[in-house]
Amino acid sequence: MCDNKTDKQFAVCVFCGASPGTGSQFMETAKSLGAVLHENGWSLVYGGGTEGLMGAVACSLTSLGGNVHGIIPEALIRREQAVIVPSVEEFGRTTVVQDMHTRKAMMGKEADAFIALPGGFGTMEELFEIVTWNQLGIHDCPIIILNVNGYYDGLLEWISAAVDNGFISDGASAIISEVKSVDEIPDKIRSYKPAPGRLDLDWSNQ
Ligand code: AMP
Repeated sequence: MCDNKTDKQFAVCVFCGASPGTGSQFMETAKSLGAVLHENGWSLVYGGGTEGLMGAVACSLTSLGGNVHGIIPEALIRREQAVIVPSVEEFGRTTVVQDMHTRKAMMGKEADAFIALPGGFGTMEELFEIVTWNQLGIHDCPIIILNVNGYYDGLLEWISAAVDNGFISDGASAIISEVKSVDEIPDKIRSYKPAPGRLDLDWSNQ
């Protein structure tokens, strides 16, 4: 994860809702993110869903000829009655795994940067695990939240309250970067510096 100094294509992992959300701006932003990934020559690794924001990002990038890898647990594929195995042309390459932990581990291993779009419990869980791993020094990849229409204002306020109350260090609070539009993403990723306050631990045996 993020130790990619080879000529492997830079991969962005996107966490986002399996639902479309209630406003059209969420789906629009998900589609625009696919275009930004394409413009920068970046590939996408994601949760492999065909619905909601997940499906929109994947579809957008594949329609432009980009490289998409969806990783989905078998049980979730079965839940998707409409599309049993997503088509490569529409949603890119799909890897079916046994469980959620394997999915997250694979997504984390492949990714060089992480972006969270709006989403629900699933998105939050994925975001916070990867934030925690950054804080623990397991990886040093950029983590960006795309704050569409202030969706993440409450989360940013909580981080600030956690710093004020002494639960997150000031340095570690910079692990998550905020952008308000997809256009800010390339600069944010290219200028990324690991946040101060991360722990310097040795995870080489894991
Ligand atoms: P949420 O943010 O609650 O919509 O959750 C997004 C996450 O939910 C994904 O990363 C998956 O773990 C899971 N999920 C729910 N439905 C699906 C689906 N149809 N396809 C793939 N993942 C799904």
